[in-house]
Amino acid sequence: MMDVKIECPKCNQSGSIKVEENIVKKSLKGVIAINIGEDLICSHSFMIYIDKNFKVRDTFISDFKVELPLIILDKKKMQKWMTFLKILMVI
Ligand SMILES: [Zn+2]
Repeated sequence: MMDVKIECPKCNQSGSIKVEENIVKKSLKGVIAINIGEDLICSHSFMIYIDKNFKVRDTFISDFKVELPLIILDKKKMQKWMTFLKILMVI
């Protein structure tokens, strides 16, 4: 088993999962897709692609079929903006 560090593309929460070496070695393309279920790393469910070197090639939220700009999904940035707008409105 290999520990693979992953990061949620939605909330940036990071954690590690254990991946069986054989699964990666046996894969034809040398890249495997893993679906990270909700509550494993955070409250989101997302997909990750791992290559033969157990490096994460790509991550994306599986709920969305179309790739959305990450800025839209970034809650922290949105909240900052909301705070900023509220301050502007008070002024
Ligand atoms: Zn998350």
